[in-house]
Amino acid sequence: MREFKDIFVFVEQKNGEIANVGYELISEARKITAQLKNLDYKVVGVLLGDSVESLAEQVIAKGADKVICVSNEKLKNYSTQYYTDALMAVIDHYKPDGFLIGATVLGRDLAPRLAARADTGLTADATMIEVDTEKPDQPLLLVTRPAFGGNLYGTIVCPKTHPQMATIRPNVFEICAVEQGHSGTVESFTVELKGAPMLNSVATLKKELAGVDITKAKIILSIGRGMQKHLDFAREVAKELGATVACSRAVVDAGFAPKELQVGQTGKTVRPNIYIACGISGAAQHMAGMEKSDYIIAINTDPNAAIFSIANLGLVGDGKQVLAALKTALLNR
Ligand code: FAD
Repeated sequence: MREFKDIFVFVEQKNGEIANVGYELISEARKITAQLKNLDYKVVGVLLGDSVESLAEQVIAKGADKVICVSNEKLKNYSTQYYTDALMAVIDHYKPDGFLIGATVLGRDLAPRLAARADTGLTADATMIEVDTEKPDQPLLLVTRPAFGGNLYGTIVCPKTHPQMATIRPNVFEICAVEQGHSGTVESFTVELKGAPMLNSVATLKKELAGVDITKAKIILSIGRGMQKHLDFAREVAKELGATVACSRAVVDAGFAPKELQVGQTGKTVRPNIYIACGISGAAQHMAGMEKSDYIIAINTDPNAAIFSIANLGLVGDGKQVLAALKTALLNR
């Protein structure tokens, strides 16, 4: 029997609300286990919190074969110390072959600590996961991530230690439909979290978003350096269009927009139905954050701009004029 088995997914939740990235990773883990049918690998979701059993069915409905619930009052709010202790106990007990974690603020803090504790490797900010099926009894995850500022992609393997770990940013993978009648099991796992907390929080402050969360927007009007001086006008057009305004890093760096509106490798990954890139050249680091949008419209004065290479519809022209025409059309509907 194999010592290491199954693909585990950390299912992040806060106040009983599961972050979508957990479901995205479960969908991706299902694609991996589908290729490992001979080994009967399962997709296992891991929930941590003070009382998380009630959330398990939601995770099964998204495709998990099993959900491990670790409930403990010390896990109510995120703590690097206790979450690492709890997940390490899960790893020691269940011996997963793969462990996927969302590259959220929490996941980026937790995953490296956990990988160090488990004495294994971690590929951070992965954009693709495949399985090496050369040796079917020794599955190796081939985890691809951008390197050198997004100009190159490297595929990383972790052949000698377990679990094979990766973090993946929200919106990189799709949530896929699950076949009817899919079922799974729920298991409670008790951990003893010893020791006083190394950190005590004295207050919790809620950060207010400057606008709508761009990762959830269905239509995005994204503004680049070529249009940054017309950001207010873009906001007017976006309002008529029912779109959310986002931007490139150049616009954030120039102080025209807050960082939370930035799309790209060092910003957010978005996957809207429609992404309108206006005055954006299409640097690799920008495209890494929006290329999976369903339909991309690019507006640029330069017919050779790289953004046109991934656009479904390209308009060569002045962004201000194109947006003005769009606004007029919307108002005269
Ligand atoms: P530019 O490249 O300057 O392009 C402006 C475009 O506007 C041009 O194509 C021009 O033809 C066009 N234009 C000019 N006037 C008009 C007009 N009137 N109407 C229409 N079009 C017009 N960038 C990101 O966006 N997100 C990231 O997360 C990110 N992360 C990075 C991480 C690293 C490690 C590095 C090194 C870079 C990163 N960058 C990122 C920066 C990236 O390389 C580009 O510099 C940036 O995306 C350029 O932004 P831009 O397209 O708005 O500006």
